[in-house]
Amino acid sequence: MLTLTGATVRFAGRAVLDAVDLDVAEHEIVCVLGPSGSGKSTLLRAVAGLQPLDGGRVLLGGADQAAVPVHRRGVGLMFQDHQLFPQRDVAGNVAFGLRMHGAPKSEQTARVEELLDLVGLPGAGRRAVSALSGGEQQRVALARALAPRPRLLMLDEPLGQLDRGLRERLVVELRRLFGTLGTTVLAVTHDQGEAFALADRIVVMRDGRIAQSGTPLDVWQAPADAFVARFLGFDN
Ligand code: ATP
Ligand code: MG
Repeated sequence: MLTLTGATVRFAGRAVLDAVDLDVAEHEIVCVLGPSGSGKSTLLRAVAGLQPLDGGRVLLGGADQAAVPVHRRGVGLMFQDHQLFPQRDVAGNVAFGLRMHGAPKSEQTARVEELLDLVGLPGAGRRAVSALSGGEQQRVALARALAPRPRLLMLDEPLGQLDRGLRERLVVELRRLFGTLGTTVLAVTHDQGEAFALADRIVVMRDGRIAQSGTPLDVWQAPADAFVARFLGFDN
C-alpha cells in the first residue's frame, strides 16, 4: 500500500533520508525506532507530502505521489506535539479534516460522535481541549487523524507526552482499534516497549538509513548489527 524507493531528503547537503526503500502492506502496523535525528519524522513528513524529496519516489496504492498535494494523499498524520486547536472544542478539533473535505454538517456530527466513542471519550464533543488531560488530548488528536478515514495513518510519537502506565494501556487499546478498523499504520516511537507491543514489523533507522526491518521477534532475537543491538540495549 505504501512503497518508498530510494527516498532521499537532504538538508544543507547532508542526506537526512538516504535512499530509503520501504514497503508497508495493507493493514500492517509498522513502528519506526531510532535515535534522535535519525530521520524518523522526516520519513513521515515525506510520505505525507509535507517534505519534498530530493530523490526517489513515494507510491501509495501503486501511484506515484510526486504531483499529489498533501490533502489528496489520503494519509492521516498525528504530529509529535499533537497540536490541537486550543480555540476549538473537542468536536471542532475532530471535525477539522471532515470540514476540509467538505463533508455535510450532519455527517460530520455523526462521525465525530462515532470517533469519540472509539477513542474512549464518549460525549466529550463540547469540552474545551484546554480542560483535558494529556492522555485525553492525545485521544482527541488520534480521533482527528482518523476522522477522514485515511488509507494510511502515520503517528509521530503518538503517546510521547504520557506517563508509562497510561502509555501501556493506550498501546493495547490502539492495537485493538487498528485491528478493528483495519488501519494501515506507520508509527514513530522512542519507546521500544511501545513498538514491540504495537507493531507487526519494526524498522530501525540510523543516520537516514534503515538499519533493520523485521518482525519484533526477528529484531529482538537477531539484531542486524552492533548498532541495532546497542540501540536495543543488548550491550549491558
Ligand atoms: P527525534 O527522535 O528527535 O524526533 P527524528 O529521527 O524524528 O528525531 P528528524 O526530525 O527526521 O529526526 O530529523 C533528522 C535530521 O534532519 C536532524 O538532524 C534534523 O536536525 C534535520 N532536519 C530536520 N528538519 C530539518 C529542516 N527543516 N532543516 C534542516 N534540518 C532539518
Ligand atoms: Mg522526530
